[in-house]
Amino acid sequence: MANLTRDFFIGLSNSRFLNKSAQKWGFRFGAEKFVAGTDIDSVTRTIREMNARGISCTVDNLGEFVSEKSEAASAKQRILQMLDRIHEENLDCHISVKLTQLGLDIDRTFCLQNMEDILARAAEYGIFINIDMEDYTHFHATIEVLKTLLETYQNVGTVIQAFLRNAEAVMDELKDVRLRIVKGAYKESETAAFQSKAEIDRNYVKLVKKRLLGEAYTSIATHDHHIIRELEAFIEENQIPHSRFEFQMLYGFRQEMQYELAKKYHFTTYMPFGNDWFGYYMRRLAERPQNVNLIVKDALYTKDNKLKKEPLLTAALTASLFMLWRRKRKR
Ligand SMILES: Cc1cc2nc3c(=O)[nH]c(=O)nc-3n(C[C@H](O)[C@H](O)[C@H](O)COP(=O)(O)OP(=O)(O)OC[C@H]3O[C@@H](n4cnc5c(N)ncnc54)[C@H](O)[C@@H]3O)c2cc1C
Repeated sequence: MANLTRDFFIGLSNSRFLNKSAQKWGFRFGAEKFVAGTDIDSVTRTIREMNARGISCTVDNLGEFVSEKSEAASAKQRILQMLDRIHEENLDCHISVKLTQLGLDIDRTFCLQNMEDILARAAEYGIFINIDMEDYTHFHATIEVLKTLLETYQNVGTVIQAFLRNAEAVMDELKDVRLRIVKGAYKESETAAFQSKAEIDRNYVKLVKKRLLGEAYTSIATHDHHIIRELEAFIEENQIPHSRFEFQMLYGFRQEMQYELAKKYHFTTYMPFGNDWFGYYMRRLAERPQNVNLIVKDALYTKDNKLKKEPLLTAALTASLFMLWRRKRKR
């Protein structure tokens, strides 16, 4: 059942129609719990609050399914504006980008040029840019673009998804590059990726430990407290310098744990913002279907507990989510 629920939300996250429609709906289904703001001003307020608690941020200007050069060009402009804002306000913050938002599916040279513009501005301000890893169909292109960028820029890194069978080999190839290690958020074939949680968790711990024994900076990105405790013990036993790693979690998840870790280690919260929230939010529900009750309540009721009159699409989506949630609770 857990796999069915996961596949259902991953399926929704891949729907171009729902992604585009969601941009017109505004925030729905509780998305504001996991999306830090709709624009640069609102996300800046949240960054300031997190910085005041000793937490760094990495912001992600939400956006997927970019098929027009003009859309990629406006995404780049928003990222450049965000860089200016980080610099002007001296925020403790870097930026995470997705190459498909910057035109990877349209034209690789165009995407590379967009990344170079971003990296040049970021280098001027001393800001790091992380390239998020998307689904496996974009994996090789992402690594190739990264390698080209590394010939000129040092302020760029990427993500290793521990569920991929080739994760260790690629991580070793990038041993001098700043990397974020995650389990992997997409649905991939058995040929490309481990399918069982046990195998993925085992590989995750193995990869992070290997990185921690090396020299380059590592972002340990997980909400899994069992893994975090095991890695904390490893860090202590091996006296890994705290300057060599940080923990990362997503905005809106395990808030208390974020504050607790930030007291001991460098800690960064991943903060998505913008109105293109649908795909990101559905992937988060795929990881944690417990959040479905939150979206059902939010979609059906107003803040003062009155039933909403929403368009048919919302009602249909809500009904299917509600049925899935009920079936899952009965098991
Ligand atoms: C900062 C960051 C950046 C990421 N970037 C990428 C990326 O570029 N590409 C990509 O593919 N994926 C990315 N991901 C997503 C990642 O791949 C996983 O899909 C996601 O983090 C879920 O795996 P997990 O390790 O957090 O824990 P899971 O494997 O989902 O959970 C393990 C256990 O942890 C506990 N747990 C987890 N969450 C909670 C919670 N909210 N409350 C209570 N207990 C909880 C539960 O006991 C659960 O069984 C990123 C994740 C983070 C944190």
